[in-house]
Amino acid sequence: MILRADIASGSFCLPDCDQAPKRGPGTRPFESAREALAAGFRPCRHCSPLLTGIADPPWLVPLMSEVEADPGRRWHDHDLEMLGLDPDRVRRWFVANHGLTFHAYTRLRRLGAALRQIQLGEGVGQAVLASGFESESGFREAFAQVFGNPPSAVDRESSIWINRVATPLGSMIVGVHDGGLCLLEFAERRMLDTQLKRLSRHMGRVFLPGEHPLMETVRAELDAYFDGSLRAFTVPVQAPGTVFQESVWNALRGIPYGETRSYARVAETIGQPEAVRAVGRANGDNRIAIVIPCHRVVGSGGEPVGYGGGIWRKEYLLAMEQAQAFHLS
Ligand SMILES: [Zn+2]
Repeated sequence: MILRADIASGSFCLPDCDQAPKRGPGTRPFESAREALAAGFRPCRHCSPLLTGIADPPWLVPLMSEVEADPGRRWHDHDLEMLGLDPDRVRRWFVANHGLTFHAYTRLRRLGAALRQIQLGEGVGQAVLASGFESESGFREAFAQVFGNPPSAVDRESSIWINRVATPLGSMIVGVHDGGLCLLEFAERRMLDTQLKRLSRHMGRVFLPGEHPLMETVRAELDAYFDGSLRAFTVPVQAPGTVFQESVWNALRGIPYGETRSYARVAETIGQPEAVRAVGRANGDNRIAIVIPCHRVVGSGGEPVGYGGGIWRKEYLLAMEQAQAFHLS
């Protein structure tokens, strides 16, 4: 797919966008959105070329509507075939986009729905019925495999709900629990099973795909941030770390929108001017991209060094914030 950028307007489009520039000397073709961004073009607001591949593809929509309509349903390969779908294709798409097979995804959703019911005060028996497990023992076993604990021992505090959220820079994985936002990372660093398990151990919590009311707040604030109308996030954040990490992350939240600081300056801010390298590491360990603005820390010469989500995203965020700050002030 060739994306076309309009040199005069500075934006680039999907081929089928009705605002896409016509081929000609005033345009530049790009093989990928990433290359167009790196060349300084911004995504068209009309066709959002960075969002392709994030929405479920049309062939998958009927299946996903059925999953949403009845999250407790158990699915088998022949159910997929009945819907005219190739189970292998479904599996490949899920592994690439969710980091899990379709069956693992629906099983986790069923476990998540059951956990939520238990947390809301339902008995285990009720939760088993509603989540499509055939027997209570089967349910307890599946539950313990995922959580490492029997259902009654898993409390509200120990689960983190994860989902994808679409942004102009690509899909992000968002993780929330009742206490606040605790994970926001670009999904390119895919949340494959092993990564999730590692993070789960590190945070002493269990990850489940699903919706949580706070996700709506996160989505709304990210939308407002990317359209330039929001400068400071209000969603509660929970970022537990070492004392040193927490002091660095706090200092990052103090860097104003549209500005940058060097690692050395952050080290001075926290009263440890000699700890420049450790500041760099704590910056890289930030698990809540954008909201804890680690992208605002730059090299001593102002160059955008090191970013987990990719330098091109850091450059984009800084350029966008600086342009907005200039407009608004
Ligand atoms: Zn467009």
